Amino acid sequence: MSEIIIDPKRRVELPATMEGKTVLIAGAAGFVPSNVAEFYLKLGAKVIGLDNFITGSRINVTLLSKYEKFEFHECNVYESLPDFSNTKIDYILSLASPASPIDFAKIPLEIMRVNSEGTMKLLELAKEKGARFLEASTSEVYGDPEIHPQKEDYVGHVNPIGPRSCYDEAKRFAEAMTMSYHRKYGVDTRIIRIFNTYGPRMRPNDGRVIPNFINQALKNEDLTVYGDGTQTRSFCFVSDLVNAIHNVLFSFDPTPFNIGNPDEYTVIDTARFIIDALGSKSKIVHLPLPKDDPKRRRPVLDKLQAISDYKPQVSFKDGIEKTAKYFQEHGMDY
Ligand code: UDP
Repeated sequence: MSEIIIDPKRRVELPATMEGKTVLIAGAAGFVPSNVAEFYLKLGAKVIGLDNFITGSRINVTLLSKYEKFEFHECNVYESLPDFSNTKIDYILSLASPASPIDFAKIPLEIMRVNSEGTMKLLELAKEKGARFLEASTSEVYGDPEIHPQKEDYVGHVNPIGPRSCYDEAKRFAEAMTMSYHRKYGVDTRIIRIFNTYGPRMRPNDGRVIPNFINQALKNEDLTVYGDGTQTRSFCFVSDLVNAIHNVLFSFDPTPFNIGNPDEYTVIDTARFIIDALGSKSKIVHLPLPKDDPKRRRPVLDKLQAISDYKPQVSFKDGIEKTAKYFQEHGMDY
């Protein structure tokens, strides 16, 4: 079958309801996917969640289980999927992947397998079911970028054998696989490149900068800035990210979209901001900068904004306060 297009200039058409639709979410116990799952449950969809709990949290599944239309299967998507032969599936969201740099050292092979074998199994299912498929890729496909800010047509600067390569290269492979299923079989695919995201349902011990700093600030412990803290990131609150995902899913363009929030902060300013926002007594200490840590990162969102009304709504201060409140309510040691 030849490539289906699909009109990149056509505006996003958001459905008024998802009643009668089934959304399969791989990685549903994870931070971003569990927020996406709740969003679609609230729109009336049936949501089928899959997870092996390698980094996902059972708390998130418990929270989703209060919805009648939520169904959950514990499984490794890269080994085998549940039997869906009698199940109608309209959308498949491939969101299952550990994403914290501390995971890259601990579980590199699981990361590579879920983004290759796992993505392929989900693409096969999409082909079989005639479902729309969305692959969650990452700003990491740009590596340590030589151009700033990053647009979707930048092909990246990735070290293929560095400590982050198990994730970066696996996601690049997942994008290539998604485009290949689209071109060869006409599967209706979408790709998102997620920039740094934070918010409720993240694991406090996840290792990424925002949960680390919030956790440390709440306990009045030193905030651990890696290197001199001049490296930058652009942080998106999770509800804004979910909204961006929804817009891309209902776009008409199979090529990748950056999603996130373009407000850029140095890591040291992020530390100071969190200490202030939470009224903490913490100080800042410096630890060595990990190898291949990207120096700057900020998404250009023009592509999505040209076809949708997407605009981040949550300020950094509100987002930090909401996340801190969540950690205080759900415990800080998991
Ligand atoms: N970082 C830091 N202290 C921490 C955790 C992370 O200074 O306790 C830095 C890290 O070196 C990087 C940035 O914060 O420059 C974002 O790191 P994160 O692990 O959140 O994700 P990344 O964007 O690197 O994938």
